[in-house]
Amino acid sequence: MPNGNKNSFANGANEAAAYRSFVAVLLAVPVLLTASVGRSQEAGTPQRANQATVLAVNVAIGALTAGVGRVISRKPPKKAMLYGALGGAASYIGKRVIARSDPKTNLVGREFSAAGASVVANAGSGLGPLDAFVFPYGPLRLHWNRRTPHRISAKLDLATSLETVETLHKGGVRLDAKRTFSVGAPIFSVAMGQEGNVQLPDVGGSQIAGVILHRDQTPTIVEASETIDRTLGHELVHVAQYDFFFIVGAAPAEKAMLRRTTPTAWINRYIDLGLNVPVWSTLNRLIPYQHRPWEIEAATFSHIHEAPNR
Ligand SMILES: [Zn+2]
Repeated sequence: MPNGNKNSFANGANEAAAYRSFVAVLLAVPVLLTASVGRSQEAGTPQRANQATVLAVNVAIGALTAGVGRVISRKPPKKAMLYGALGGAASYIGKRVIARSDPKTNLVGREFSAAGASVVANAGSGLGPLDAFVFPYGPLRLHWNRRTPHRISAKLDLATSLETVETLHKGGVRLDAKRTFSVGAPIFSVAMGQEGNVQLPDVGGSQIAGVILHRDQTPTIVEASETIDRTLGHELVHVAQYDFFFIVGAAPAEKAMLRRTTPTAWINRYIDLGLNVPVWSTLNRLIPYQHRPWEIEAATFSHIHEAPNR
């Protein structure tokens, strides 16, 4: 390999390491903050935003995340911000598709959103925009890195796996197999009258670590199908947010923290711990339900079920 390439590869590795360390610190902040803040009131309903605003926020998050990654590596951020913005827009499109809760397009929406998140992460760490991708499905994540000798590897999504096992142990729940396979996220339904066994704090459902729990019937049978679709659409948007938060935040942070020793580096090679889960949970405690940006986004997307032509 010519020296120039070697140096550029080394510089790229340093930049990626700096980005990962930065993200690790960023993820730790909300966890530290929670020590002094009590549990927030879960009251009110998030107001819907308009689609243009949600798109703009996704673009801005992508651009800023990528730009900050380059700035801390002391590199010009302009190009990375452009790619980050495109990744954010792709993530928006994927979430919009998955919010339809249509078994035929759920997986496309989820993976497209994850690809957008991957482009943001690549731009922030100094990689080419299409150098590496993370594609989640069920308890695994497929990591595809075109710059490493072993291009494709599968890692266990530990957070989703543990949450799936915990949900299976709750009484009155059953796996919604068709929907689970359609999106690659474990989806459980809970029968009417069995809801005392579980908590459904969201809009008739819940999403934790990429695992969805929802009611399989509603009090009004006539509205049942639309209501369940809207609830699932809302929770599926949270799944795509979970993917984004992992790929852009937790994945680089875990790599930064675990690569220091041989045993922990081995863990990082095969297991995604899911540091985004405790951080997200902490943010949920800090921010009242109706003010959470991710709830406003999910509410905005899931209301496409009320439009005549969705
Ligand atoms: Zn929600």
